[in-house]
Amino acid sequence: MNSRTLFGIYFRQQAELAMPDMFGAGPQLQTLVRDEAAFRVAGTRQPRQTTSSSGHTATPASTAPPPKLSQAAPSSSAGSTAFRNRLSALRPVSQLVASAETRRPAAVVPPLPAIVTPSASAAPVADKRSALAMLYRAGCSTCHLATTRKSFVFGAGNAEARVMVIGEAPGHEEDLQGLPFVGPAGKLLTTMLAAIDLDRTSDVFITNILKCRPPGNRNPESAEIITCMPLLRKQIDIIRPAAILLLGRIAAHAILDITESISKMRTRVFNYNDIPCMVIYHPAALLRNAEYKRPTWEDLKLFQSMLASMGIYGSLRKE
Ligand code: URA
Repeated sequence: MNSRTLFGIYFRQQAELAMPDMFGAGPQLQTLVRDEAAFRVAGTRQPRQTTSSSGHTATPASTAPPPKLSQAAPSSSAGSTAFRNRLSALRPVSQLVASAETRRPAAVVPPLPAIVTPSASAAPVADKRSALAMLYRAGCSTCHLATTRKSFVFGAGNAEARVMVIGEAPGHEEDLQGLPFVGPAGKLLTTMLAAIDLDRTSDVFITNILKCRPPGNRNPESAEIITCMPLLRKQIDIIRPAAILLLGRIAAHAILDITESISKMRTRVFNYNDIPCMVIYHPAALLRNAEYKRPTWEDLKLFQSMLASMGIYGSLRKE
């Protein structure tokens, strides 16, 4: 293991144990550097540790027992001994590497957060309705979809809603009416929300990643998503929802900046600017594949319990 890896692991351990930052502890860092160098010069390697199914670490029977750090890196100073003792009291490296790897998809936050802090990216907007109306009136003709659309489908619902629902892009019916989710998938979405006691006009604000229909209902192109995202971010900053429900892969990828499949994203709670988000199958996918209905019902109930755990469910209409 090279020194960079060792330091990386050590710093993560420090953080996990809420210990002081090593960079502020010069002599300790120097000791670690010296010990690590001695460790390498001596050519002594710790045998690989394996983790049993019970979570315990074990040394393979064929290898010699691991040298204690104090043996591998002799040092005479008392401070150094204390430091090595602290080091050896930390969690085994094998466990730490595993936990660091599971942490790597940074978008995931622990499920069902109790407290939601407002988005750090913008100051609260006093009059959300007016702010949204101004944004709507500004319109958009930034990309070529403005030349093929009939309507700019901005979004609909309550500007004060605690929940935002975000889909992919307007379809034929939405393009005709200038409203999101009013076609067959929209009717199903209305029923799905009602099933968890959310009214689509008073409890949520519904919008899409793209505000204009891609010709022939093709998938949005990356360039179109990139062009349209600033408008959606402004909508989120104005509404400041307590939670977001993402419909389908394209909405989830655009908001969460990840590329996982729906089956891997569903049931998890993600974080967008400190707003908890959950991903479910798109209602249009449910219309095509009936087998998605049961898991989606389970996911909706999870979303409902997340709202309840945040203390906003049941109080939606009082605000
Ligand atoms: N599908 C979407 O993603 N959005 C709509 O508004 C309609 C269908």
